[in-house]
Amino acid sequence: MITLKEALKLPKEELPHLKQDLKKRIEEKKELNAYISLDESGDGVPILIKDNIQVKNWSVTSASKILQGYISPYDATVITKLRENGLAPFGRANMDEFAMGSSTETSYYGKTLNPHDYERVPGGSSGGSASAVGGGVAIASLGSDTGGSIRQPASFCGVVGMKPTYGRVSRYGLSAYGSSLDQIGPITQNVEDSAILYDIISGYDPKDSTSADIEYSPITPNLNPNQKYRIAVIDNYVKDASTEIQQAYEKTIRTLEKLGHTIIHKEMTDAKYDISAYYITAMAEASSNLARYDGIRYGSRVEGENLKDTYFRTRSEGFGDEVKRRILVGNFVLSSGYYDAYYVKAQKVRYLIQQKYSEIFQDADLILSPVSPTLPFKFGEKKEPLDMYLSDIYTISVNLAGLPAISLPVDWVGNLPVGLQLIGKPFDELNLFNGALSLEQGLK
Ligand code: GLN
Repeated sequence: MITLKEALKLPKEELPHLKQDLKKRIEEKKELNAYISLDESGDGVPILIKDNIQVKNWSVTSASKILQGYISPYDATVITKLRENGLAPFGRANMDEFAMGSSTETSYYGKTLNPHDYERVPGGSSGGSASAVGGGVAIASLGSDTGGSIRQPASFCGVVGMKPTYGRVSRYGLSAYGSSLDQIGPITQNVEDSAILYDIISGYDPKDSTSADIEYSPITPNLNPNQKYRIAVIDNYVKDASTEIQQAYEKTIRTLEKLGHTIIHKEMTDAKYDISAYYITAMAEASSNLARYDGIRYGSRVEGENLKDTYFRTRSEGFGDEVKRRILVGNFVLSSGYYDAYYVKAQKVRYLIQQKYSEIFQDADLILSPVSPTLPFKFGEKKEPLDMYLSDIYTISVNLAGLPAISLPVDWVGNLPVGLQLIGKPFDELNLFNGALSLEQGLK
């Protein structure tokens, strides 16, 4: 598949041909179920958009039944920026319902397959985005990452997934899940494409009150794979990963050393606290954010006997089980009597995690960490919600701390890819991309 960098250089008259070719590929690999729908009307390099990002006049549903029939009246800021830079939204990517999940099994549109093994999950929640890029049916894609949803599917599908610093990319037009955690980011075939797409979508946006009003200089012209870094490895983290992941991790450390980087050893808060702090925070925020889906303002409605009954029926029939579970738990942890015990405590843990990261970054420029504790798992393998949640142990602390991180493929076990992530200091995306570029080149 042509890279984003190459596609952006194509003369305009080549674009229809490119779209035709892409359509043919999508048709040939229809079984992946990575696309929910296609839209060829855009004028630019075709790019796949996760189904929770607003595109004007598109059906945008967060892969939920409750949003069937909703047509977006506006473009998200990232979409406006894509259009201004020669790209055009080409299709809606499948995802876990409301971005809640790590396997894309909870989508109302059915599961997406892993392009490298059809019996395994592509990861989630941006599973459609990653599967399409990994399966050669998208040039690049936008995903969203609340607790790993860009990085983990990227690692499961053998592609590059990047989560920007919280506040770097506008959330205007991203359906809110956990508002203090959500970021939109690129899923691409390589690190350079990731930087190109990141540059396009980044920057201050007055329409998002959490957007960072700080100076932004483009990464791409300043990329330098020869820069040497102090890279921290978190010794107490890796013990929870499977043997295959640990081996890939060790191998990558040796590669980084050969490239001239300095490895330093650090400890982090036990990842079990991340899980509790993250899921309490994310569910609390989700329960509040999803209150807007009442059958009156958006999407589908099931008429009841009175207003309250309409709310009740619409929400009972419109939301899937996982979404309901999270709304229930979220309301519980915010309820009077439990608020201090759960929500407030989770915020204290969140603060400690942030502190721990800043301590590590006093001695290190970047951190190397696994993305997933296991290789891509099989469909149906994680039936217990907690088992599914535990597959996020390596990604969620990054969101709790608001840091930028990039997942890139470092190895293969049989036909299954292994991705690892580099984590950077807040707003230090340039060094993050440089480190990733160095590693990518060193692995060739
Ligand atoms: N798997 C995590 C969750 O279910 C992360 C999802 C995401 O980043 N959107 O909350």
